[in-house]
Amino acid sequence: MTVPMASGLLMLYGTGVAHAAQQAAPGPGDASPSLARLLLLAAGPLLLVAAVALLLRRRARLRHLTAPFTLPPAVTEAARRGDEDGIRDCATEEVARLGERARSARGGTAAPAEHALDACAAASTVLKQARGIPDLAGAFALVAEGHAALSRTPGVPAPLPLCFFHPLHGPAVRRIPWRPDNRREQLTVAACTSCIRALRARRSPETLTDLLEDHPVPYHEIPADRSLWSATGYGSFLPDRSLTSLVHEQGL
Ligand SMILES: [Zn+2]
Repeated sequence: MTVPMASGLLMLYGTGVAHAAQQAAPGPGDASPSLARLLLLAAGPLLLVAAVALLLRRRARLRHLTAPFTLPPAVTEAARRGDEDGIRDCATEEVARLGERARSARGGTAAPAEHALDACAAASTVLKQARGIPDLAGAFALVAEGHAALSRTPGVPAPLPLCFFHPLHGPAVRRIPWRPDNRREQLTVAACTSCIRALRARRSPETLTDLLEDHPVPYHEIPADRSLWSATGYGSFLPDRSLTSLVHEQGL
């Protein structure tokens, strides 16, 4: 049922109650109100409750459609434990949730919904082929892009990608200059609050690792031609294009 219908119910109830009150007022020689009047008075509060419930449900749905992407706490917790299966389960749920939200948005502006569905398809592909936590983190980065497409407001810059240092920290809050230990050039990366705080305190941020010749190393130290995530920093190095388009382009 739509909001105008709910509003109509409220107006109907208001009119009905006023009318019933007038009609129910006992006049000279009218000591007992009719059954119809009693039923109208009894039904009024029920209609009012139904209308308010519809309005609240509609408001909750709109809030769901416009909410920015955040990682579920279960992902952060699973990442802390190094629980790959737990992260995979959460990624599966998040890909499904993005698909549901994108399909719901199809009735509105077409382009954001199509971008979100593309991101959802890319995340689903990466998830199916994932061989470890770095790939699962890539699925989350694609899910984040899909939600960003749906939440995009014209004239407002796109949201930042997930944290460069560890995407499972969640969305970045700022782009910062950063120079890797073994390189001369300075990079610009998007980072979360916790990693920015660590760098300000001259500590190394907690960084996602990947295997290089069977040894765990910071994922960004994997040669770029061997890791999409190292090449893109999960979106940090792609200010003008999307991870989604890159995944589709590479036919992953
Ligand atoms: Zn971080």
